[in-house]
Amino acid sequence: MKAIQVKQAGGPEAMELVELPVPQPKPNEAVVKLAASGVNFIDVYFREGRYKAPLPFVLGQEGAGVVTAVGAEAKQVKLGDLVAWTGLLGSYAEYAAVPAERLVPIPHSVSEQQAAAAMLQGMTAHYLSHDTYPLKKGETALIHAAAGGVGLLLVQMAHNIGARVIATVSTEEKAKLARGAGADEVILYTQADFEAETKRLTGGKGVDVVYDSVGKTTFEKGLTVLRPRGTMVLFGGSSGAVPPFDLVALSQKGSLYVTRPTLAHYTATREELVARSSAVFSMITAGKLKLRIEHVYPLAEAQRAHRDLEGRKTTGKLLLIP
Ligand code: NDP
Repeated sequence: MKAIQVKQAGGPEAMELVELPVPQPKPNEAVVKLAASGVNFIDVYFREGRYKAPLPFVLGQEGAGVVTAVGAEAKQVKLGDLVAWTGLLGSYAEYAAVPAERLVPIPHSVSEQQAAAAMLQGMTAHYLSHDTYPLKKGETALIHAAAGGVGLLLVQMAHNIGARVIATVSTEEKAKLARGAGADEVILYTQADFEAETKRLTGGKGVDVVYDSVGKTTFEKGLTVLRPRGTMVLFGGSSGAVPPFDLVALSQKGSLYVTRPTLAHYTATREELVARSSAVFSMITAGKLKLRIEHVYPLAEAQRAHRDLEGRKTTGKLLLIP
């Protein structure tokens, strides 16, 4: 089978199209023939070596497809089931062996491409808005990179809850998308100072929560636009890692809360994984969550997909098709 392998950490060129044997399932695993593999920013961190995996490894953390082989102890799925998963390396390939307890069924109303597009970013938007800081109607959220993969989904969920959404993006085109997803206000943070703008838009009161996936370039200013006892949810570092900072700043800026969550801890049990993925699939089925799948690449063009993602050229979801 064809797969995208990293033999040595590095830039997009570190991803090689290779021929590997089709995996055989261990007793607790099922083998899935992929219909689509999701591309996520976390793939960049693994490729660069910011997040470590034993070399060589097949990249990719998200996929959907049909079960073609089942291990003797894998009771959760059967041959022919349509399934999706996230959080395990190896999805940039034609086939992947996945522990069956991490596979979730795809409902009939959701396509395999939609499932591949929704697992990682959809469940992330869901836990951020429903659990990490459960947004309430009438509250105000600042959402950075609002036209990105997670961003567009998080804006929709926050809007559906009834929160006021202030969004940041880098271009007019992205601003249009963020507004279309339900953002009430959009700031072009590459042109305007989002700190001053957010303070102006909230009449100096500040926002209840900042959802920050950009990190290095936004984190510190984000703390200053929170209301007293507001919450900073730092969930990524697309612009780079946030440098160490003095916790005393949290008291000085208003007894603030900071958390750095990750999806794995919000889908740790099978029960929570199935409940959260079902909640996201239900939103899609009900038309309350629109997926934007505009950037679809053949598996062999994974390098181009990464260049586009890192170059801030993409909006919404990127998929690789084997
Ligand atoms: P995005 O589609 O959001 O792509 C990244 C976006 O970040 C860009 O489009 C760009 O939007 C913005 N950005 C700002 N500064 C930079 C920069 N210097 N270089 C590149 N991009 C920049 O990616 P994903 O939706 O896949 O992921 C978003 C973030 O969320 C990532 O940091 C990822 O690691 C994190 N994440 C965290 C999870 C968790 O559980 N903790 C789970 C899923 C994702 P613009 O041009 O508008 O500025």
